Amino acid sequence: MSNLPSEPEFEQALNELSESLKPFLSEHPEYAKAFEIVQIPERIVQFRVVWEDDSGKAQVNRGFRVQYNSALGPYKGGLRLHPSVNLSILKFLGFEQTFKNALTGLSMGGGKGGSDFNPKGKSDNEIRRFCNSFMAELSRHIGKDTDVPAGDIGTGGREVGFLFGAYRRARNEFAGILTGKGASWGGSHIRPEATGYGVIYYVEHMIKNSCPEFSLDKPSTRVAISGAGNVAQFTALKVIELGATVVSLSDSKGALISKSEKGFSKEVVEAIGELKLKGGYLESYQSFAPGGEYEYHADKRPWTLVENVQIALPSATQNEVSKEEAEALVKAGVRIVAEGSNMGCTAEAIDVFEATRKQGKGGVWYAPGKAANCGGVAVSGLEMSQNSQRLTWTPQEVDSKLKGIMTDCFNICLDAGKKFSGEDLSGDVLPSLLSGANVAGFIKVADAMKAQGEWW
Ligand code: NDP
Repeated sequence: MSNLPSEPEFEQALNELSESLKPFLSEHPEYAKAFEIVQIPERIVQFRVVWEDDSGKAQVNRGFRVQYNSALGPYKGGLRLHPSVNLSILKFLGFEQTFKNALTGLSMGGGKGGSDFNPKGKSDNEIRRFCNSFMAELSRHIGKDTDVPAGDIGTGGREVGFLFGAYRRARNEFAGILTGKGASWGGSHIRPEATGYGVIYYVEHMIKNSCPEFSLDKPSTRVAISGAGNVAQFTALKVIELGATVVSLSDSKGALISKSEKGFSKEVVEAIGELKLKGGYLESYQSFAPGGEYEYHADKRPWTLVENVQIALPSATQNEVSKEEAEALVKAGVRIVAEGSNMGCTAEAIDVFEATRKQGKGGVWYAPGKAANCGGVAVSGLEMSQNSQRLTWTPQEVDSKLKGIMTDCFNICLDAGKKFSGEDLSGDVLPSLLSGANVAGFIKVADAMKAQGEWW
């Protein structure tokens, strides 16, 4: 029995990697030491954040930065502002981020941070004062060549702006210490869109390699998406732009399902974006989508509510697909599941999908978040490159680099899945992208650590 505190989300992420690595480690036992070492973060910083609310009272929250691994470059990973934030969640996210960043091929280590501060219902002034206090401490631990945070749940363009300003004023230094900045002050074009667009670029490769009869330029290809934040919105907009049909979105209070053949329109997704900026919920859908084409289900996720769906893209938060929901998706006809969110599926849901894949033709092909959603951090990496050169690339340049990175990431996962899953791939069985992503990411990080004298 371990004497460490229970960290369920971190243990789940660790078990997933450990399972994937078994066949590789039995062939290469020398890497077992690297696996033992890579589990422990290089450093964790925890601090208090005291901020003033609108009535002049002192409020206090917990702040964290988990600096997981810097063998491949400066720590890189977002800041989550959500009341559920704790060390287990940030350790799981930082651990996943380390291998995800390796899969982008860019020079980035892994980290994650945030606070249990809840931005919901706070005024702009309260959020600004919180960000100033949070950065007063965080600024001691980050730097353009040390650790470069970005956004995540609850941290969007507004928060990145307040945090960046707090750092710049305190240090008298305009430096690329955060990504996701505004395009006119050091941000990269396509960063807001990057995670969602990247998921779709990855899914296009999955379609080509498994079920070319579903094409994203056909309205008959129906896509279920959860979430209504940054990742979900831009995933939906890319699907709509290409010509397929988005059948669902959701938020923390419920799911919105399209009843019409046409699915969600671009205008409705954009209206949801506006609503979310103001802190609203999908339950008020009649204000932006009158006319009876949508159905709202309180306290539900989309997965059991959709029919005749080929692709499912969890894009809200961790563990948002249960075993029963995975079974419902299989029944609804889903063939591709790719995570926009980090660890979007429970271990039991992944087991359901992977069991169908192992049966051969007609199974579900599952891609974990560390592969499918790496486009966001990849464009953050491109933002760092632009900041170093003091240049701004055009949206077309960034989008084309993003496509290239997603293609390379898919090929790396596919090849490693063929080589290292230990499975018999005869009879139309597709390689495991889960195992491919985990093993390929691990080897890259472990080899860099070995070369730098961190294990032997
Ligand atoms: P946002 O804060 O923009 O949106 C999050 C969405 O998920 C909101 O619709 C929110 O609902 C919903 N949500 C949050 N927590 C819960 C919960 N406990 N139960 C149900 N719904 C919930 O975040 P992002 O879109 O940026 O992030 C979504 C996921 O994608 C996260 O897992 C994140 O780690 C991951 N990710 C994000 C990247 C990025 O570039 N932003 C990059 C790679 C991964 P509500 O609106 O009601 O709050």
